[in-house]
Amino acid sequence: MVPMLAQYRDIAPKGTVEFLRRLGERAQGKSMLHVNSTRYGGGVAEILHRLVPLLAELGVNTRWEVISGTDVFYKATKSFHNALQGTKQRITTEMYDAYLHCNRENAKQLNLEADVAMVHDPQPAALIDAHPQGTRWIWRCHIDLSTPQRAVWQFLRAYVVRYDAAVFSLPKFAQRLPIPQFLIYPSIDPLSDKNRELMPEEINHILQRLGVPQDKPILLQVSRFDRFKDPVGVVEAYRLVKKSHDCRLVLAGGTATDDPEGAEVLAEVQGAVEMDPDVHVLLLPPTANIEINALQRAASIVLQKSTREGFGLTVTEALWKGKPVIGGETGGITVQVIHGQTGYTVNSPEGAAFYIKRLLNEPELLAAMGRQAKEYARHRFLITRHLQEYLGLIIHLSRRAS
Ligand code: UDP
Repeated sequence: MVPMLAQYRDIAPKGTVEFLRRLGERAQGKSMLHVNSTRYGGGVAEILHRLVPLLAELGVNTRWEVISGTDVFYKATKSFHNALQGTKQRITTEMYDAYLHCNRENAKQLNLEADVAMVHDPQPAALIDAHPQGTRWIWRCHIDLSTPQRAVWQFLRAYVVRYDAAVFSLPKFAQRLPIPQFLIYPSIDPLSDKNRELMPEEINHILQRLGVPQDKPILLQVSRFDRFKDPVGVVEAYRLVKKSHDCRLVLAGGTATDDPEGAEVLAEVQGAVEMDPDVHVLLLPPTANIEINALQRAASIVLQKSTREGFGLTVTEALWKGKPVIGGETGGITVQVIHGQTGYTVNSPEGAAFYIKRLLNEPELLAAMGRQAKEYARHRFLITRHLQEYLGLIIHLSRRAS
């Protein structure tokens, strides 16, 4: 096993690695199991790839199991996911049955023995039915449960209440539950390709390859082409700024071939942009981690003008790169963008343009805010803080068990 923790010594706040080792001593010999529904793709899998070996290095015997399912199961859980996040869905009895059947089959096949089992998101939540003796069960919810479709939540809730604890990513994402609830923010890994330091030559080379000249300040938004991310609002803000300040706008997002709405939003953006040579709409493949890293580092200001947002990891990534973020006043953006300190929260293109201009007019303010942004991310949103909280939870729950 390659030791990894020491690599965070100069990155995490001073004393963090030592503190983690102390916590590790308290959790020594305990076993932990993570269960989710995918090994690759999405933020949950990405962070587990790093958290699991780090927990193991700290002495927690950690395993990660992935449930498998049929097409009907995945279709059902996709609908559950949308319904739980507030989009009306028609869920049939067959879908509920497929969900339960698949959870039962997985419970038979997977080894669920552990001191603490952390089950991520709704897909494997019904595994609690298997309930091996002596295990403390945690339901780790990464999604926004603030306005769920009632029937789906009632169905899922019947399983959730049997857990020993639930963990949410933001207070407003939580639901009333009769079990202990904990708040744990997501995190980014400062050593991943998406976030690690890059040499200036590397950044220049990538920007050249992407066809983005660095001759004027770059405004950047990285996100899926989704209406809630308001890319058209970003273009409007850019146009207002452009009347007085020469700059470029980069909108970078995933290709939207399998998402009809994504293609529609992309077409709207392209329509709004017309033939402006200073606007770059980049379609990036899902593997474009270093490209996103380079764009975030090359930008002067990062925007995340969402009208609705989950936690907003693109914001975390930008803060970590020392960039002030101008973000929509919604979801996790409000705990990351501290107005006037790490960026500005806004509610309109006009508001965004106002603060972009302020920062472009005051390079010293921009630089100072960028430094604050980075320190804020260092203390609150790195994987090392995430690890501390998971260790705390393991110690707390296994003490209660004994
Ligand atoms: N991302 C990416 N390629 C894209 C768009 C986004 O890799 O084309 C990444 C982005 O860097 C971030 C994550 O996907 O790590 C998006 O997370 P966020 O919480 O910001 O938004 P979500 O897409 O989950 O609503």
